[in-house]
Amino acid sequence: MLIAAFDIGGTSVKYGIVSSLGEILEEDSYPTNAIMGGRYVVNKVIEKAIQLKGKWNIKGISVSSAGQINTNKGLVIYANDNIPGFTGINLIEEIQKHTGLSVRAENDVNCAAIGESWKGNAQGLSDFLCVTIGTGIGGALYLNGSLYRGSSYAAGEIGHLTLYPGGKKCACGKLGCFEQYASSKALEFLISEKMDKKYGLKEFFQITRDGNKLGIEIFNHWINDITTGLASVVHLINIDTIIIGGGVSSQGDFLLKAIQESLYEKIMPNHKRKLYIKLAYNANKANLLGATKHFISSK
Ligand SMILES: [Zn+2]
Repeated sequence: MLIAAFDIGGTSVKYGIVSSLGEILEEDSYPTNAIMGGRYVVNKVIEKAIQLKGKWNIKGISVSSAGQINTNKGLVIYANDNIPGFTGINLIEEIQKHTGLSVRAENDVNCAAIGESWKGNAQGLSDFLCVTIGTGIGGALYLNGSLYRGSSYAAGEIGHLTLYPGGKKCACGKLGCFEQYASSKALEFLISEKMDKKYGLKEFFQITRDGNKLGIEIFNHWINDITTGLASVVHLINIDTIIIGGGVSSQGDFLLKAIQESLYEKIMPNHKRKLYIKLAYNANKANLLGATKHFISSK
């Protein structure tokens, strides 16, 4: 069985033809053009899905999407202004109507967690937290062997834990949210604020690994904010594994070790005894895989 999986993000829309065994037979991406609005973004997905349907014998379409998604109805309950007018769109109804295929939709971080559980570093784990560190910070909770969605499909929004009361304004409207300090965007902000030269993230990590003093200082500051947020989550749910995904996970062990050391200093001994921090195995493919698995299991 083949599925056309889409991953709608603020910058790009990734898509792929994925088999029920998790093999990706074709994949590509295109710019979201989020500024054009939610309606435009969905129409582009429909257009691409119709093309893929003409080329492959697909059984259905599954969408991994930014925003809070009522996965039963396919409705975007809440999405921030990165994609204006996205809130209120029913992904399942819209895409089904135009393609005639069966459609599923799920939040992107939830898809990443399902993807890691199916084909990644969370295989066989009954409890884990999946954290994506990107423009914002996303979280997904996998508890007792399945995804925990919460009472209104909004569980795991750890990016909006309050880290500094009265702090920086967040896109959600609150002040001092975790993601304003610990996302990769927050790190970029720290770099531009504290360093004379303009460094991209890749360059910044390179000079920091090479021992640049100011680089190390900024990196440690950022790591400290990441682990302050994570420590709260660890104390709340006592999971044994945290999977770290998102663009910065390409920094590998360098990032992993820093998070691990700093986090261990902040948690109670009993929580530390069995706590593993791992990087997401599937990198940017996790959402497509997760969307596919979500389709297969929700039939
Ligand atoms: Zn917030």
